Amino acid sequence: MNSALTIALSKGRIFKDTLPLLAAAGIEPVDDPESSRKLILDTNLDDVKLVIIRAADVPTYVGYGAADVGVAGKDVLMEHGGEGLYEPLDLGIARCRLMVAGPETGNSKRRRMRIATKYVKSTRRFYADRQEQVEIIKLYGSMELAPLVGLADRIVDVVDTGNTLKANGLVPLEHIADISSRLVVNRASMKMKHARIAGLIEKLRVACGSK
Ligand code: AMP
Repeated sequence: MNSALTIALSKGRIFKDTLPLLAAAGIEPVDDPESSRKLILDTNLDDVKLVIIRAADVPTYVGYGAADVGVAGKDVLMEHGGEGLYEPLDLGIARCRLMVAGPETGNSKRRRMRIATKYVKSTRRFYADRQEQVEIIKLYGSMELAPLVGLADRIVDVVDTGNTLKANGLVPLEHIADISSRLVVNRASMKMKHARIAGLIEKLRVACGSK
C-alpha cells in the first residue's frame, strides 16, 4: 500500500510553530519556505512532502485529498465548515481570540450595525445566536481600517496581543471564540493510510503535550 504523505501548511506563524512538532515526529523540511519559491518541499523522508499554501486554502486541499493532513487555525476551520475533515488534535499553537472590536466611544447612526470582517460565517452565526440584526461587509484584510474611514461600525478579527487594535484606536469589545491551530486529516486518507497517520498523530500529540 502506498502510504506516502502530503502535509499542507501555510507560511508564517503556523509554519514556524509546526516545525518543532514535525521535527519531534521525525520530519524535517529540506528547504526553508520563507526563502524558497517552491510550493512543494521535500523533507528528510523520501515519502513525506510539505505543500505550502494560503492558510484559508488548507481545509480545501485536505478536504479534497490533495493533501492527506494539514495544519489550520480554528478560525479558518470555523469558516470552512470542516467537510471531509477529521480534526483529531489541537496543536495549541498560534493561539489568539476571535473578537468583535471597535472604537471605544461612538454609537452607530445606522439602523443596523455594520460589521467588517473576513470571517463572514462566524460573524453571522455569532449575531444570529444573539438575535441581533447586523449588516456584514466582507473584507480580505486590514479590517482595522474599516471603522476609521466609516466603512463599518465594528470589525470581527483575530486578536493576539491587541497591539494592532490599539495602534488604530480600537478596543476589543466581545469575545467570540478561542483560536488555536488544529491538525486536520482527510477522511479517506485516515482509512487508507491509517497506520502511518495514526503514528504521526500520536507523535504530534506527545510533542505538543495535548491529551
Ligand atoms: P496583535 O498581536 O493582536 O496585534 O495581532 C496582529 C495581527 O495578526 C492581527 O491583526 C491579527 O489579524 C493577526 N493575528 C494575530 N494572531 C493570529 C493568529 N494566531 N493567526 C492568524 N493571524 C493572527
